[in-house]
Amino acid sequence: MKRLDLDTIEITEEDIKLIMGDSFTFFPQLLDNCFCAKCKDHRTTIINYRAYLNILQDISLQGECAQCSQAVGRYIETGESKESVEAADHVRKLKKDKV
Ligand SMILES: [Zn+2]
Repeated sequence: MKRLDLDTIEITEEDIKLIMGDSFTFFPQLLDNCFCAKCKDHRTTIINYRAYLNILQDISLQGECAQCSQAVGRYIETGESKESVEAADHVRKLKKDKV
């Protein structure tokens, strides 16, 4: 099977849902468990984030700390699950067709 070009693309929460599948249940927990270098306990919630699907078929979130507005990120490894990779390929194809 020929793989689609693996560029980093921006995705929506709907896409994340598709890619994560059943694991999407944990998505709110992931948002609440981000690392902030500036905050005292280093644990924060990411807000105003944008989501990307990277070359490894993993999801990366770029946003800011809910408490101090420092830029924070969150990485969600989905590239190791076969179902997730298939869903990610599907999402990529949809995005491409749209352009
Ligand atoms: Zn912070």
